Amino acid sequence: MWDITLDDKLSEIIPKDRILRDEAMSEHTTFRTGGKAARFISVRDTKELTDLLELLGDLGIVYSDRGTGGDDAPSYYVIGNGSNLLVSDSGYDGLVIELGSRMTCNPSVQYKISDDHMEACAGMLLGKLAAAACEVGLSGLEFAAGIPGSVGGAVVMNAGAYGGQMQDIVSTVTVYDEKEHKIVKLDSEAMDFSYRHSVIKDMPYIVMEAGFELKKGIREEIESRIKELNAKRREKQPLEYPSAGSTFKRPEGFYAGALIEESGLKGYSVGGAAVSDKHAGFVINRDRATSSDIYRLICEVREKVYADTGVRLEPEVIFLGRFQ
Ligand code: FAD
Repeated sequence: MWDITLDDKLSEIIPKDRILRDEAMSEHTTFRTGGKAARFISVRDTKELTDLLELLGDLGIVYSDRGTGGDDAPSYYVIGNGSNLLVSDSGYDGLVIELGSRMTCNPSVQYKISDDHMEACAGMLLGKLAAAACEVGLSGLEFAAGIPGSVGGAVVMNAGAYGGQMQDIVSTVTVYDEKEHKIVKLDSEAMDFSYRHSVIKDMPYIVMEAGFELKKGIREEIESRIKELNAKRREKQPLEYPSAGSTFKRPEGFYAGALIEESGLKGYSVGGAAVSDKHAGFVINRDRATSSDIYRLICEVREKVYADTGVRLEPEVIFLGRFQ
């Protein structure tokens, strides 16, 4: 339960007008659904983030995706661009910290380039990062240009597309360890990347910055590859509707979209949520869906596909708050 007296403590670090109350999470997720966060702060830079996380640690406020820690202790949660998140209609009864697209590193830049190496702050959008790399003729991020996530969210998820994934290019990740209350720099081995997984999902780490090893290339070729991949996305994916991209992970040996289509679920809907007619791997917010519609649809799709094929679809989408 968020305690109102905590606001005074937070305001020692964050100006009061930036500590938002009852903020609609539908404004911060690409599904465009979800209830309110009791408190919401979009951090400006990595120094502010560190100070905030240290304060939360001192106050005994824990990291949790349920809205409360053990024994109803107040909790917090970190998001990037909200492009892989389904937030419960009942919201999150704690503090949501957004590492958003305007967040900078210290000193106040979003990224640095030296030779073939790039460093970027967690809030920077992947599309912007890929464009910056392209501008100076660095290749490696083309696959990521159309993924609507932040650097932090993409590192956590080991986001990937068209044969590339973050683990191919990430060399270091700077994290805040919320149990030890210190900043740690992890190399790519320590990141323990695998398909849509990294160590950040298992450890109490908040991504602050990431370093990328890229290759010298020809600017025009990089640009045309980005354009080609983005055109493929527009052709195959229902980008005209709110969604969180592929709803399910790819089951080994299968494609989630093909299994869903074979189960006759293309276009199937629950409330305002539907399995996309264009790409069955996408659950979309077709018409003023609630998170509960989306959640129920995900559950029904899993049940039907399992009954028909024996394959268990695992959601790629992350759930925040309480769902029944
Ligand atoms: P969020 O959705 O904000 O968060 C996702 C998870 O990461 C949450 O658990 C959150 O707590 C955690 N997190 C976020 N930032 C941090 C941080 N700094 N430190 C610690 N934890 C953090 N994904 C792909 O892999 N490939 C695709 O091709 C792809 N295409 C998509 C297309 C569309 C139209 C959409 C809407 C989504 C698509 N996605 C795709 C999904 C999504 O964009 C990625 O998973 C992306 O990496 C999520 O980043 P985010 O910043 O939005 O993370």
